[in-house]
Amino acid sequence: MTTVRCGLIGHPVAHSRSPDIHRAFAAQASIALDYVLIDAEPGEFPDRVREFFADGGRGLNVTLPHKAVAFALAEEAGDEAWQSGVANVLTRLPGGRLRADNTDGIGLVRELTKNLGFDRADRRILIAGAGGVAAGIIPSLLAAKPREIVIANRTPDRAARLVKHFENQRLAAIPLPDLRGSQSFDLVINATSASLEGKRPDLPDDAIGKATLACDLVYADEPTPFMRWATALGARTADGGGMLVEQAAESFLLWHGIRPDTVSILHHFRSRLQSD
Ligand code: NAP
Repeated sequence: MTTVRCGLIGHPVAHSRSPDIHRAFAAQASIALDYVLIDAEPGEFPDRVREFFADGGRGLNVTLPHKAVAFALAEEAGDEAWQSGVANVLTRLPGGRLRADNTDGIGLVRELTKNLGFDRADRRILIAGAGGVAAGIIPSLLAAKPREIVIANRTPDRAARLVKHFENQRLAAIPLPDLRGSQSFDLVINATSASLEGKRPDLPDDAIGKATLACDLVYADEPTPFMRWATALGARTADGGGMLVEQAAESFLLWHGIRPDTVSILHHFRSRLQSD
């Protein structure tokens, strides 16, 4: 059996759960996979990518802080990557051309619809954060025609730039303080990295109602500060573990032509998270 070489490139990457997830997918599909971690500082990124693919690598997952450069480096791109200008997957096409994709949005949508039973159509959605992952999920969220998507970020200019980039009437940037007194949202997504510092974005309680689904895109072995806050206000909550597995499954499909069964792998991922 030929071994396929794939990997994750970012800075840092040592903490990543992606190798575990991809190896579990590969075992399920009976594919011999060598999944490597590449820690590359921003200046080294293009050379490390070229080196990986020149050595016969098939695909790379891309994480912080390289998602915009990954998109710029590719010669072809899937729709979500084109629309958002950021890529979390690079694939070597036959003939050697490099293709950029963004599977964060489809990963989140699968988690919302398949795993959490949430329908996005005609709903009010609030995204806290305006970084790479916020940009990546917007095309897939817009595709289901929500009533509106509001972006609120600690640095308001960054949210305003994101809205300008997409030019879509369903999308608006609102400064965090202006959310006070607003009607609660159907879905509140924490797309900030605040949970990694043990904090939560400074959203007002008004954003959350009893029917709100509050999703933190950071995954953890216990509820994050954002999830604890939303739970106390009566919301249903989820962390980013489901999205992580679903976006990985989409990249696995791009590289190997097989979409893994994510239910059993998510179960495996959760038990590894608890036991480590
Ligand atoms: P990024 O480009 O660095 O953006 C970080 C965002 O977090 C910015 O909007 C930043 O606001 C905000 N932020 C950071 N610390 C904050 C704090 N203490 N309070 C409020 N806002 C804060 O990062 P990213 O690529 O968008 O990723 C964000 C998070 O999503 C990461 O932590 C990652 O774990 C998670 N993620 C999860 C998945 C998944 O599959 N589950 C996929 C991708 C990313 P400013 O603009 O004001 O700095």
